[in-house]
This record gives sequence, C-alpha cells and structure tokens, in this order.
Amino acid sequence: MNTTQTAPAITFELDERGVLLTCPQCGKRNRLRYEGLKQTFHCGQCRAELHLRSEPIDVQSDLIFDAVTRRATIPVLADFWAPWCGPCKMVAPELRKIAAEGVGRWLVIKVNTEELPSLSHRFRVTAIPTMILFQNGLEEARQAGAMPAPAIRKFLEPWLRG
Ligand SMILES: [Zn+2]
Repeated sequence: MNTTQTAPAITFELDERGVLLTCPQCGKRNRLRYEGLKQTFHCGQCRAELHLRSEPIDVQSDLIFDAVTRRATIPVLADFWAPWCGPCKMVAPELRKIAAEGVGRWLVIKVNTEELPSLSHRFRVTAIPTMILFQNGLEEARQAGAMPAPAIRKFLEPWLRG
C-alpha cells in the first residue's frame, strides 16, 4: 500500500456544468457553476476562499463550449487559434492580460481549431486568430487578426455595459 501523500494538484478546467478547480488548501474538487460565476467563492469542504484563475481556459469539447457560452452569466470571449499560427502566438500573451483584468467580469476561453474543427465550421471562422464575444449563447461581436491588449479591451468595452 502506498502511504505517500502527494500534494493535491491545482487543476482548473471546464466541464459541461461549470469551472472545476481544486482547493489549494484541502484538495477538494469544487465546481463553480456557469450560472453563478463570480470573482470568488468558497470551498465546499474547508470554506477557503477560491479564485477563478485569471488565465484563458482551453475548451476540450463542443459540448463544453456550448455549455460555457450559453450558461455563463458573464460575457465569454472565445479565441479561435491553431498551434501553427504565428499571429495566434503573438496574441496569446495579450489575451492573458485581458483574462487577468476580467476575473469575475468576463471569461476568456481558447478553442484550438485543429482539435475542434466543428466549432470553427459552425461559426464560420475563416481566419485565425479570430475572437468572438458571446453573451447568453449569442455571438455579439467578432474580430479577426492579432490585436494588442488595449485593442482587445476596446473591442470588449461596448458589450460590458448593461
Ligand atoms: Zn478546501
């Protein structure tokens, strides 16, 4: 029997119901439902305050994409990218800045168009990177091409009021 206790890995991912994250204190897996996304919440077991990670999150399936874009109570910015795309690599650190600024206000997700080609077909993404802003499952705006963080912020701004 292996009695070695390994420290709980901090994981952070999306499933069909919400954002999953491991409590850094007690290791319990928590799910923050898309309907209740907010800046902080508490671990169901030890009550430690948990924070949404302020980084773009990779989407693993079409189902998860649909769930997060339709059910999240905050706007969702989806970055359609591919590993071979140079401009996508340029925009990645800019998106990290935007994700960090938007903790609890918006969510930044990444769609690898090589792994999820059905999504790029469905949304007629013909160039990458393309950013699409979703609210309540509806596409509100899109922008193709790499942009620095201030331009991304400007692109988001009109959709964050009201
Ligand atoms: Zn905990």
